[in-house]
Amino acid sequence: MTRIKIGVSACLLGQKVRYDGKDKFADLDKYFDPKLYQLIAICPEVEMGLNIPRPSIQMRIIDGDTRLVQVDDHKLDFTEQLNKWFEENKKRFDQFKGFILKSKSPSCGNLTTPHFNADESFTLKDGLFVSLLKSQNKRVFMLDEKQVKQPAYDTEFLLNLI
Ligand code: SF4
Repeated sequence: MTRIKIGVSACLLGQKVRYDGKDKFADLDKYFDPKLYQLIAICPEVEMGLNIPRPSIQMRIIDGDTRLVQVDDHKLDFTEQLNKWFEENKKRFDQFKGFILKSKSPSCGNLTTPHFNADESFTLKDGLFVSLLKSQNKRVFMLDEKQVKQPAYDTEFLLNLI
């Protein structure tokens, strides 16, 4: 039987790719039977060329434009770098029936990522990778590591989505 392919933020699979050189292992095999699902790692920040470890980045509104910038130096702007990586890789994402994405990340967050204003107030929206995925308008599910642990999102629920 062909397994259903799901794209997963690499740090949730235990890869030490975060800005601080650590992972955020989420033990997803407990929730996604490996006989049914194939979980495939994606780390937008590392794949687009950032180092491990690296200075942390954030989504920030600058002159009315939403940018992905370094927290301690907003002039270091990675928006175009991530856009370019996404454009080069978007066909690869067609294989996935869904995504499990690290919450709050400036790249991978799904409605949980702070977008900062000049006065440091913020609203929660998508990370840049997720907003690009959504712009593709595909019928896929997107959950974060907290949602997959809720009984409402069990295997039957997910299979009905795809
Ligand atoms: Fe990479 Fe996304 Fe994990 Fe950040 S949240 S380390 S970009 S996979």
